[in-house]
Amino acid sequence: MHVLRGGRVADVDGTRAADVAIADGEVVAVGDPAAVDAAVVGDAAIGGDDVATDAAEPTETDVSGRVIAPGLIDAHVHLMMDGRPDVATATADSDYTASYHAARNLRAAAEAGVTAVRDLGARGTLAIDASEAVADGVLVGPRVVACGRNVIMTGGHGNWFGREADGPAEVRKAAREQLKAGADVLKCMATGGVLTEGAVTGAPELTPAELAAFTDAAAPTDTPTAAHAHGEGGIKNAVEAGITSVEHGTFMDREAAEMMAERGTYWVPTASALHGIVENGIDAGIPADAVAKAEDAAERFEEAWEHALDADVPIAMGTDAGTPFNYFGDIPAELSLMVEYGLSPTDALEAATVNAADLLGLDDVGRVAEGHRADLVVLDADPNADAGAWRDPDAVFLGGERVV
Ligand SMILES: [Zn+2]
Repeated sequence: MHVLRGGRVADVDGTRAADVAIADGEVVAVGDPAAVDAAVVGDAAIGGDDVATDAAEPTETDVSGRVIAPGLIDAHVHLMMDGRPDVATATADSDYTASYHAARNLRAAAEAGVTAVRDLGARGTLAIDASEAVADGVLVGPRVVACGRNVIMTGGHGNWFGREADGPAEVRKAAREQLKAGADVLKCMATGGVLTEGAVTGAPELTPAELAAFTDAAAPTDTPTAAHAHGEGGIKNAVEAGITSVEHGTFMDREAAEMMAERGTYWVPTASALHGIVENGIDAGIPADAVAKAEDAAERFEEAWEHALDADVPIAMGTDAGTPFNYFGDIPAELSLMVEYGLSPTDALEAATVNAADLLGLDDVGRVAEGHRADLVVLDADPNADAGAWRDPDAVFLGGERVV
């Protein structure tokens, strides 16, 4: 039993004074000191008197003046990527090297207060295996939800690591291969992208019939699906196929936003990805082709936010961490970017906690609440008032284990 004493708690339900008691990886009590003490005493009693347990001697940490928040959830990362300027050079890395990037990225994310991530594209079973390694305690890091390999058209965006498939039957088979390998979510490319040379950013890739086969393959097991989509045509194709989330959505128009709001399709904007490319540019070694596409996309992205906010599209936080200059240790900066695009700090917190948890299918995280996993971050400022509160966390707990 561990009690965080004297601070405030901040989640989407607001910010209030409360102590928090943690035991066996879970939050067992949240509230005023008397209520938390009662829970501590109750737990000690259950421990019995002839067995010496931790419960009998709760440890306490004084967090007065500080704020306990739920850990952040990033719905779009690439664990195998290291933020290098030219991703094309990563093809020369061995699978082992790519795995070491994943280990380092997981540690960096945890230290930044990120307690769950969704990997949306890796080589082979790298991210699926990382999920197991974290669960088994082999690696320190956030919980990992993984898609395995991306399902893409031949020659499509990300073809150096995607599973190329053409026609509904082959797309269905490619999707089922990921499920067989242990994927928790399926990811496909509905349009071209910024970081594949020659791919036109907004042009549709998988066809409506292929997208329908893709979501149909996921349906029997209720597996969520994600589509990389920049152009409005590809976004609409994906939404019509019943995709669970649209990734990037850079050129979203009013009609696409209304379709998404009506169907409850999540938008994962990944503002950090565009910023990483536009802010650093050609001088930093990013290929000119990618910089030009990102600059064009950045202007349209502002309009996408206006449409999404007008239509009330549900938003889940995602960064595309691993892309150029988009580091796992900087994941919390996405909340500040979302606020720049028009969300309130509480809306950004909602996107990065309860909404992302819902999208990832995690029902035991997202709030500081009794019975939830003790994925907690101790901050100097209130994230309901300041989206920048995540800089330099005082403490991070992953399933009750303190890692910072
Ligand atoms: Zn991505």
